[in-house]
Amino acid sequence: MRNTTEQFVYKLSEGDASMRDLLGGKGAGVAEMTKLGMPVPEGFTITTQACRSYLSGSNDISQEIHEQVLSSLSDLEKATGKRLGDGVNPLLVSVRSGAQVSMPGMMDTILNLGLNEEVVQALISKTDNPRWAWDSYRRFIQMYSNVVMGVPEEVFEQRLSERKTERQVSGDNDLDAEDMEWLAHRFLDDYKQQEGREFPTDPTIQLFESIKEVRANADTPEDARRSQELGAEGIGLCRTEHMFFQPDRIEAIRRMLVAADEEERQEALDALLPMQREDFTAMYEALGGRPMTVRLIDPPLHEFLPKTAQAVETLAKATGHTAEEIKDTADELTEVDSMLGHRGSRLAVTYPAIARMQTRAVVEAAIQVKRRHPDWSLAPEIMVPLVSEPAEFEYVKQVVEETANQVIRESGLPMYCSVGTMIETPRAALLAGDIAAGAEFFSFGTNDLTQTTFGLSRDDAGSFLQDYYDKGLLQEDPFSHLDQAGVGRLVEMAVKYGKRTRPNLKVGICGEHGGDPSSIEFCERVGLDYVSCSTYRVPVARLAAAQASLGRHAPERRKDSNQENQTPPQ
Ligand code: PEP
Ligand code: MG
Repeated sequence: MRNTTEQFVYKLSEGDASMRDLLGGKGAGVAEMTKLGMPVPEGFTITTQACRSYLSGSNDISQEIHEQVLSSLSDLEKATGKRLGDGVNPLLVSVRSGAQVSMPGMMDTILNLGLNEEVVQALISKTDNPRWAWDSYRRFIQMYSNVVMGVPEEVFEQRLSERKTERQVSGDNDLDAEDMEWLAHRFLDDYKQQEGREFPTDPTIQLFESIKEVRANADTPEDARRSQELGAEGIGLCRTEHMFFQPDRIEAIRRMLVAADEEERQEALDALLPMQREDFTAMYEALGGRPMTVRLIDPPLHEFLPKTAQAVETLAKATGHTAEEIKDTADELTEVDSMLGHRGSRLAVTYPAIARMQTRAVVEAAIQVKRRHPDWSLAPEIMVPLVSEPAEFEYVKQVVEETANQVIRESGLPMYCSVGTMIETPRAALLAGDIAAGAEFFSFGTNDLTQTTFGLSRDDAGSFLQDYYDKGLLQEDPFSHLDQAGVGRLVEMAVKYGKRTRPNLKVGICGEHGGDPSSIEFCERVGLDYVSCSTYRVPVARLAAAQASLGRHAPERRKDSNQENQTPPQ
């Protein structure tokens, strides 16, 4: 009988070297070592499929993955006789990220996860080595803050030098237990200062936040900075909703959703404007003048509403609405199939005020940054998600354009804001020629385009696709490798129709396939101008793009290199 629950977490003893695609290079490697009987510490691997599910969903760990991780953690605790967060016999774990292909130096590790003040005291009692315990704690705070939250390393390095200067010592080894304790506490202060909230002391929260690290979309200034360091030439997709999920913003967006009338809604949006402007300003600063395409809010709005009774109560107090009214709004916004529901451009049709606020925030940020760096060429690009009808795109484009032009006029600074769209439905691909009349660029959202073309839910398909691979009906996961025969044909057709209408139409891809070498080769072949992928896939994507380009131009390049006797440029 078919197993309906997909396995997202594997014991080390369950894998082997052939499972690289599913377990990542590191996961498959340690599984093989375990199989060979080598002394490998206890642990488990979360699959690359879980990562894809996370990236393509609402960027939260699904209930299913959550439960599987907790159950594996409980097995680990039994096997080691220790417990995460235990005040007497604590378990400490390391969280290591990996990928199908090796990316030396790109994947981060968090060591000693599970530490907090109580656990530090337990370690001191057990080892009688307070310096080691406090040093481990301050290192963990530093690693977690940097890797998970993107707090710059320099913040902590500065503290370390501060303490060494004060103590008049030169090496870290010269610092004693008291210094390490002082550093741990200052690091906690720095975290709070940078993030606007306390460092998580609950080890389970530390664990799940660290697991989420493997995401790497360029939605934060830190992502933007890192991706540029890895060689990206800009940001092809900035998903703005992640900004809304931050704790200080979520309340403002919730206020907007439960607003009783237009006036109240506008008030909430006015409160969101400076926050979004600040986000985009930081992103543009981090990009140093390179381009960024910002996508208008995409997910169904009910995702932003409070889920627990306590959160409903808090929102009720903050807004003056009753808990009942808030629950009613949540009911109204909840859909049977939200992935095919009120999301993408449909939100901008119903709530043009959100699109206006977001456009204003992007353009005002670009203007601010341009004033600071007059030599940077800043031209905001705003992208409308999930379009299926040319008139729908035209409506949203008009809202965006009117707002952008007004902001630019007010500033007195010459600037151009372009408006484009994502091609994520078969209808958009079929009508690409009409859409291109108004759209200045296309970005293929191949996560959704795969979902809508196959009629498969990207969140649920994992539970039965294995049957298709086992029976030879499908060769590979269409959410990982672009289905060139079907989805690819739509992409090729849309490029052709779009360019026929607008010869200089810029076309790219921003689904997860943008980081997959075989899909990149296809993109090069059908004439896409750029690929956009998550931060840590940038090096692989650059290599694949260079190889695809060399492959395509091989005869001419050979001629060039013969004539000029030099290695072809990449
Ligand atoms: C896509 O659908 O390919 C895409 C990039 O958008 P999201 O994954 O956020 O829906
Ligand atoms: Mg999409």
